[in-house]
Amino acid sequence: MRVVRSIADLRALLRPLKAEGKRIGFVPTMGFLHEGHGALIRQSAARCDATVVSIFINPTQFGPSEDLANYPRDLERDQNLCLEAGTSVLFMPDVNEIYPTGFQTHVEPGRLAETLCGRFRPGHFRGVATVVAKLFNIVQPDLAFFGQKDLQQTVVVRRMARDLNMPVDLVVVPTIREADGLALSSRNIYLNEDARGRALQLSEALLAAKAAFDGGEREADKLLKLAYSALAGVDSVQYLELVDVQNLEPIQGPVDKAAALCVAAYVGSTRLIDNVLLSPSAGDITQKS
Ligand code: AMP
Repeated sequence: MRVVRSIADLRALLRPLKAEGKRIGFVPTMGFLHEGHGALIRQSAARCDATVVSIFINPTQFGPSEDLANYPRDLERDQNLCLEAGTSVLFMPDVNEIYPTGFQTHVEPGRLAETLCGRFRPGHFRGVATVVAKLFNIVQPDLAFFGQKDLQQTVVVRRMARDLNMPVDLVVVPTIREADGLALSSRNIYLNEDARGRALQLSEALLAAKAAFDGGEREADKLLKLAYSALAGVDSVQYLELVDVQNLEPIQGPVDKAAALCVAAYVGSTRLIDNVLLSPSAGDITQKS
């Protein structure tokens, strides 16, 4: 595994691979890696000839009162995980490499960035879209791997790649969870024992609604009420929404298309997000139309 910090060095490493027609996979991260990131890297290593992982804590996607300064870091552990998961090139630029003096051009996503997390994190997806566009231009991958854990991010980035004609295909990897169901997240490190116990309610609530859905319940209201009632132990629910996975619009009435039940909640001072997919069978859709 090669570790590079400059765009010029990264391009120099990738140039011969591209010239040979090698397929390049890319996994953008903010570091403090865990097995969720590991799953993305492994998929890329399995499907591509070379895998580039970036570790960059992107300042433009953090709000003024968010955890940029305290975002957890452990570069030595990250390097070991990258190596073990099959990374070919680890790109770790510093902030000036990505945002040099005079930087002023941003990618402005549309409506998809205004719902769900976008309502509570103004500017977040503008920062995400901008850094991902830059990283796509720097790496020029054939495939880019993103986690379903950040579902809205996958939808916003896919739209951006289509709208701006970026020649990259997105692969969305299912959420990796602890044995008890908690979605792996770099931010779980902030949870003390009490908060860790209560954080479990996010996945429990989503999985309870999914079990009801799989058992035949189709009414959005009932599924939402069921999930909400399982969230009594969290400190505040920012949103709990059942949305169309394509356009993130809320679903009312019966769930008759591929949907996602998405939650964001605070446990103590830690903001956590999670989601599950609910897919009606082809039979359900046919019946409706
Ligand atoms: P982050 O470092 O949090 O920006 O995440 C980098 C990538 O890893 C994003 O595409 C995330 O969606 C993905 N990711 C984070 N947590 C998980 C998880 N538990 N399972 C799968 N992918 C994840």
